[in-house]
Amino acid sequence: MKRLADFSDDINKCSKCGKCQEVCPVFKLTKNDCAVSKGKFIMLQGVLKGDLRLTKTIEKYVDLCLKCGKCREFCPSDIDVCKIFKAVKYEYSKDSFFGEIIKFLQSDKVFNEFLGLGKLFRRHKIKTSGSVKLLYFKGCANKFYPKSENALKKILPYFDVDLVEKDFECCGVPLCLERYEEVKRKNLELLQGDYDYIVTDCASCQSALADYSDELNVINICQFLASQNKKFVFDKPLKVTFHKPCHLKSDAFLKPLLNKCENVEYIEAKDYDECCGFAGEFALKNPKISLMMTQQKASNLAATNADIILTACPACIIGINMGFLGKKHPKIMNIVEFLALANRINCI
Ligand code: SF4
Ligand code: SF4
Repeated sequence: MKRLADFSDDINKCSKCGKCQEVCPVFKLTKNDCAVSKGKFIMLQGVLKGDLRLTKTIEKYVDLCLKCGKCREFCPSDIDVCKIFKAVKYEYSKDSFFGEIIKFLQSDKVFNEFLGLGKLFRRHKIKTSGSVKLLYFKGCANKFYPKSENALKKILPYFDVDLVEKDFECCGVPLCLERYEEVKRKNLELLQGDYDYIVTDCASCQSALADYSDELNVINICQFLASQNKKFVFDKPLKVTFHKPCHLKSDAFLKPLLNKCENVEYIEAKDYDECCGFAGEFALKNPKISLMMTQQKASNLAATNADIILTACPACIIGINMGFLGKKHPKIMNIVEFLALANRINCI
């Protein structure tokens, strides 16, 4: 398991160019130098040299990060900031009381027992025997509240697919490092096999699986649906807008897929690809900043006057709902759930 010291070469690669400041949503809002990678790396270099200790203040600044990865896309030194911040977090929490509680809650037994409650709402396995073999990676959100899993199983029988299901662990995104390594090992074993695609309906799961190995062919199920010769017919005209989750590598499938939806108009929201501000633990550690970001996101989406807000990650659905708290708002759902609302699915 990697420690902070293992990342010293990466941290030293930071040229302090400040490009990350131009794109970091937290820096844009707070103007705090320590909120962005550049500032955090200056502090961590001090820790590595022994000039600084990993104090609560440094912990606070490391937690002031959405782990959205936006800065990495623009970083000329291509530093994987999220991996580094995760390792630092592990280092300062591993022996703390809080760290022990997190470890207990994320342990195999407690975590999986909790998720097991979702069995009550789940659609059974579907029988498919098509020619394209899809392995479905079902994320934790679906294990607990299988709304998009049920939608996916309503749609797929109309397509020429063979859907394979396995008993996967959590993808690891929300887990501490020790548990992450454990679930990664178990999931990698289950992911072996001869499949055309590994599909998921959650952007965070997709990004986690892609991080396991470059060799896995993981796509969002919508990417597959967009490539098929089928159309989704809605009897009533609908306007939709979209929030792109940070973890969704590409949304290139969105417009082709919505073009296959009859009677549906897409209206792009301002900053549709900016983080929703929830980011799990970020919202717990930085509630005021998180709320401001979710409210900004909600207002941008509401300005489109869309009937339905679409996204591709359960955490973003929570974030957008938070932004609308106390206000009347359009329905917010995973794209797959929206497609399952179609009145008919026909050949083109
Ligand atoms: S963009 Fe990369 S190299 Fe430039 S300051 Fe930020 S982290 Fe450092
Ligand atoms: S990962 Fe996102 S929130 Fe964190 S420093 Fe980079 S751009 Fe800012």
